Amino acid sequence: MEFNNKELTAELLRLADTDVKRCIQCGRCSGSCPMGDKMDLLPSRMVWELLNGRSEEILAAKSPWVCLSCMACEQRCPKGVSPCAIMEAARLVNIRQQGGNRLNAETLENYPADMPQQALVAAFRKYNK
Ligand code: SF4
Ligand code: SF4
Repeated sequence: MEFNNKELTAELLRLADTDVKRCIQCGRCSGSCPMGDKMDLLPSRMVWELLNGRSEEILAAKSPWVCLSCMACEQRCPKGVSPCAIMEAARLVNIRQQGGNRLNAETLENYPADMPQQALVAAFRKYNK
């Protein structure tokens, strides 16, 4: 599906589901990130970009692909913002623009019968938004 910049920003905000308006740009998230020296846009910068509707910069960034999803940024944020969730949203939007990464009932047939139920629920929560 093709989105314009405004729609992409709305989609990123919807998927990330974190209140970027609360960010005070203190930089604690970036200082906590174990992959910061490998990122082109640090976690605090990703928040700023999303707050300012710069979805194209977010989607062009390499940072989401080196993010470890360790959630250290979210843990250290004094305002309850989750840069980690923005990284995740950026990955999802990028992948979905390529036509992949959606789960539905039919695809369940391809999963192993011994797959843990928690993994299934987590996958639906993550990929069905
Ligand atoms: S730690 Fe939180 S408030 Fe500080 S820059 Fe990062 S997201 Fe913004
Ligand atoms: S979740 Fe990603 S962005 Fe956040 S601290 Fe970990 S590696 Fe860095």
